Amino acid sequence: MIRIYNTASRAKEDFHSHVLGKVSMYVCGPTVYNYIHIGNARTFIVFDVVRRYLQWRGFDVTFVQNITDVDDKIINKANEDGRSASDVAAEYTEAFIEDMHAIGVKDPDVRPMATEEIPEMIALVQTLIDGGHAYESEGDVYFSVRSFPEYGALSGRDVDEMESGHRELRAAGQGTEERKRDPLDFALWKAAKPGEPAWDSPWGQGRPGWHIECSAMSRKYLGLPFDIHGGGSDLCFPHHENELAQSVAAYNEGFADYWMHSGMLQIRNDDTGETEKMSKSLGNFLVLRDVLRDVPARVLRMLCVQTHYRSPMEYSPERLEEAAAALERIDNLIARIDWACENAQDIPSPFDTHALGNMVRNTRSDFVVAMDDDFNTAGGLGVLFGFVNAMNAELGDKTIADADAPFFKEVRAFVVELMDVLGVEVGAAAADAAAAYPPEVIELARDLAGFDGDGAEPALDALLAARADARASKDFALADAVRDGLSALGFTIEDTPQGARVSFSG
Ligand code: AMP
Ligand code: ZN
Repeated sequence: MIRIYNTASRAKEDFHSHVLGKVSMYVCGPTVYNYIHIGNARTFIVFDVVRRYLQWRGFDVTFVQNITDVDDKIINKANEDGRSASDVAAEYTEAFIEDMHAIGVKDPDVRPMATEEIPEMIALVQTLIDGGHAYESEGDVYFSVRSFPEYGALSGRDVDEMESGHRELRAAGQGTEERKRDPLDFALWKAAKPGEPAWDSPWGQGRPGWHIECSAMSRKYLGLPFDIHGGGSDLCFPHHENELAQSVAAYNEGFADYWMHSGMLQIRNDDTGETEKMSKSLGNFLVLRDVLRDVPARVLRMLCVQTHYRSPMEYSPERLEEAAAALERIDNLIARIDWACENAQDIPSPFDTHALGNMVRNTRSDFVVAMDDDFNTAGGLGVLFGFVNAMNAELGDKTIADADAPFFKEVRAFVVELMDVLGVEVGAAAADAAAAYPPEVIELARDLAGFDGDGAEPALDALLAARADARASKDFALADAVRDGLSALGFTIEDTPQGARVSFSG
C-alpha cells in the first residue's frame, strides 16, 4: 500500500486513486521568462520520480503540467528586451522543454499553455461571479476570500491573522489594493494596461491572473476531483490555496485528494555561512543549463534522490561529489558483471545462485516497502546499496561459470531497472569512458602495436593484444612500454587470471 504525506491533512495517508489502476496528477509548471535554476529542476525531478514510481507500480498515470506564458514577469522581461511577450514566452518554453529532456524528466501527457485556455478561464471566472464568490472592479475581477469559509485550511493559515497583516501592508502604502473590497482578495482577471497582451472578456480587455489557469486546466484535462496535486512548498500559499478556493467555490466537486509539496533546494551563502533557499529574488541561483556544463545530469538526479523529497536539499560541491561517488559504486558493479560475463569460463559454478536469486527478490520487495512509504527514495537507495555491496563481496575476484552468466545479466538488469525508477541512468559508464578515450591512444597503437585502423577503442584492443603477446614471448621491454604509454594517457591495467582488465580515469 502506497502512503503519501498529504499537506492538506499534515499526515501520511493510504493512497487510493479515484479510478482503480489509474492516477491523475497535476504539477504546476514554470513561468517562462528566463532559464530555470537548479531549485526549479529539483521540484520537477521530484515529481518525475513520483510519476515513474507510480507507473512502475502498475498505475496508468495521466500527468498534466501547465506553462504560464502570460504574466507580469514575462511582460517586464519583454519590455526590457524590447520585444513581444509572446516572443519571450516562446523562447523560454522551448528552453524549458530542452532542460527537462536534459535531466531526463519525462514529458507530461498534456502541457497546456495559459494563453491557449483563455475561454475556459473566462468561463470559470464568470461561474465564480455568478455564485457570489467574485466581483468585478474597474475591469479587474477579484475572488472574495471571505466568501469561502475554508480558505487557509490547506496551508494552515488563519484568515483573521492574515487580514491584520494585509492591513499593515495597506497602511504602509505597499499594495495596489484600492480596487479590492477586502485586502485578502486576489485577482482572477486583470484589466489590460496599454501595450500588454490582452483578450476580450465580459469585463473588457484583460488577461487572466496566475492562479486561475491551474483551476481551469486541471478540471479540463483531469476532471474533478483528481488524485495528486504537486509543486514546490513555496507554492502552497498563496498559489495552491487560491487554486483550491477557486475550484471548490466554483464547482463544489472537490479538487485534489493528495497535496504533495517538495522541499526547497538550498545553497550556502558564503558571506553569512548560512544555507538559504535558492531563488531568483535572492540572486543566489545557478542556472540549470550552466550547471549541466560541468555536472552530468545523472549526478544531479542522484543528488536529488539521495534526499527525501519533502526535506530541504543542500546543493554543494561536497554533496555532488558524494552523489558521483555513490553512482560510481553502482557503475563499478555493473562494469564488473559485464566483464565477468564476457570472460565467463566452462567451469563449475562457484555461486549459490538460488540464494542470490532470493537476495534479488528480497531487495525488490524492500525497495518497494521504502518507496511505498511516501516515496522514500533515500531509503530505496539504501536498500539498493546494501545489495550492491553484497553482490560485490559475492563476486570478489571469482571467475564466473558460463552457466552463471544469464543470472548475472539478470542482476545487472535488476539494478538498471531500480535506478530507472528513480530516473538515474547507470551502466553507461563504460560507453561514456570509451567516448572519452584520448586520440593519442591511436598514435601509441601505431607506434607499439603496428595498428593501422581508426578509433580509440580498437587501438586500445590492439595495444592490449600486443602487450599480451610481448609478455608471452618475454619481451618485457615492449610490454612495459605499452603499460607506461597507456598509464600516461590515464589508463590503468590490472592483470587477472582471465587477462588484463583496463579502466580509464581520464
Ligand atoms: P516558478 O517558475 O517560480 O513558479 O517555479 C517553478 C517550480 O519550481 C515551482 O514548483 C516552485 O515551487 C519550484 N521552486 C522554486 N524555487 C525552488 C527551490 N529553491 N527549490 C525547489 N523548488 C523550487
Ligand atoms: Zn498551479
